Amino acid sequence: MSIQITQHFSLDELTTTDRVKFKDKNYQYGLSKITQMNILAHFAEQVRLVVGCPMKITSGIRCEELNAVVGGSKTSQHLKGEAIDFIPTKIKIKTAFDKIKKSNLEFGQLIIENDGKSEWLHISIGHKKQILRAIKLSHQLDSMYFQMFK
Ligand SMILES: [Zn+2]
Repeated sequence: MSIQITQHFSLDELTTTDRVKFKDKNYQYGLSKITQMNILAHFAEQVRLVVGCPMKITSGIRCEELNAVVGGSKTSQHLKGEAIDFIPTKIKIKTAFDKIKKSNLEFGQLIIENDGKSEWLHISIGHKKQILRAIKLSHQLDSMYFQMFK
């Protein structure tokens, strides 16, 4: 049973992970931060509105252990429930990226991330409006970030 937080986003989605071992633990972590999950779901709704189609969330909040396992940075906004990784379901990643860039949406960071196998968008709550491209060359190494100019 999952908690539907906003029209399109549930606690299940905002705590999702492909690391099966961490599913329950991460769900509990999200549940313990339900006020922040509410803020994150509302932020995700704003992003969805700009993107204009449903989004498949691949990562939202992450407990410390999960963040370490997926190679997230120690200061990752995912730890605080302030970021989502997603793939738009009906348009290309680059199209969604351009739509967000051109919109008035307030955000902290917008990053096109690529780990060599797949590509997704990372967007976080904030006001910096920093736009980056991140490439993860190997799971042993941290992502390399490149500034993208508007
Ligand atoms: Zn992310």
